[in-house]
Amino acid sequence: MARKPVASDSGFTVSISPRGASRLKEGHVWVYRSDVVSAESVPAGSLVSVIDHRGQPLGSALYSSSSQIAIRLISPEPVADFPALLRQRVADTIAYREAIIRDTDAYRVIFSEADFLPGLIVDRYNDILSMQILTQALDAEIVRQTLTSELTERLHPASIVERVDPRVRQLEELPSRASGLIQGEKTSTIFTMNGVQFHFDALEGQKTGAFLDQRENYAAAAQYAHGDALDVFCYQGGFALHLAPRCAHVTGVDSSRPALEVADQNAALNRRDKSQPEIEWIEANAFDLLKDYSASGQRYDTIVLDPPAFAKSKRDLDAALRGYKELNLRALKMLRPGGVLVTCSCSYHVSQDDFLEMLADAARDARRTLRLTEVRGQAKDHPILLNVPETGYLKCVVSIVSN
Ligand code: SAH
Repeated sequence: MARKPVASDSGFTVSISPRGASRLKEGHVWVYRSDVVSAESVPAGSLVSVIDHRGQPLGSALYSSSSQIAIRLISPEPVADFPALLRQRVADTIAYREAIIRDTDAYRVIFSEADFLPGLIVDRYNDILSMQILTQALDAEIVRQTLTSELTERLHPASIVERVDPRVRQLEELPSRASGLIQGEKTSTIFTMNGVQFHFDALEGQKTGAFLDQRENYAAAAQYAHGDALDVFCYQGGFALHLAPRCAHVTGVDSSRPALEVADQNAALNRRDKSQPEIEWIEANAFDLLKDYSASGQRYDTIVLDPPAFAKSKRDLDAALRGYKELNLRALKMLRPGGVLVTCSCSYHVSQDDFLEMLADAARDARRTLRLTEVRGQAKDHPILLNVPETGYLKCVVSIVSN
């Protein structure tokens, strides 16, 4: 079902319902298919003019012929030269990061809607860029060329890799494509954040590699960490490696053996002082392990919980909250007085209020008194667009058990 997207102002117009128009006027950038009144003969992936039911112009948007999100506004104005707009947007996102990112050569360069480039994710890992294209309009060859050339001119990467999410391409009715190099030859490197080094293999790993959105939370967690630490859902060791210099002993737990193998290599990379204890990596189901450990009276001074998203949709909310509560309850029971809990949720559908309420419930059931020291979110290179709540998803709560 390959369709040829149109990459410059196509002259096509999509008209939307009053409900869709008020959504845009409130500052959101999406209009759902159910609010599209007419999009006759508009080719897939076109840049379109959006009008309301009275014919009033509302801006320019990327049109998807298959996604439930039919319209993603890219400018409130008409766009005369789409490639020029893309170049300017890329330059702006890079300038934004130069102003606010510190202590790292790994960060999200472009975060889709939050950087006014809907459907585009670009992460930088030292000298490798990892790019993900999630919408029909940005899949056009001229768009790809414009983006890669602007990124190359400004960031001079050794290579650019594309990471393909086959499910998204299917939903967008785009031809299937393999992940791989799109420029240069280098596929692995070492990147540094907060002084901690990590191996990066562009063609392996989950998401686009590391969890860059936690970068500032790693540094925050390290400030409180002490004693015996447990990093649950540790992946390649993001939290564990940051806690290690501050703790007597650190254990990382994950169900993925490949992730733990990289975690172990990362630990070797950072353990310059051989008097520092080695991190212990355990391959296990976190729910089972926490159940066993809490039942057998294991105690810790620092526990990190960073599970995968439990709520993939609104329907999963109750089950997700039960899952979070079980984990947090068991962790709280295992913390010594003065112990630190760093607990995270990357489910957009679990709001910060839901998450704090779950934590309060868990503390009550565990008969522990908790003091919140920090309620945190995603790192600054994953900006949250205020009127597009979907761009904010990560919660990271640091608290101390007082009894
Ligand atoms: N804390 C990590 C990111 C965690 S992502 C970091 O900062 O880099 C979630 C992790 O949970 C993944 O590595 C995944 O392998 C692991 N995971 C998923 N389900 C699990 C389970 N039931 N038990 C243990 N680990 C699990």
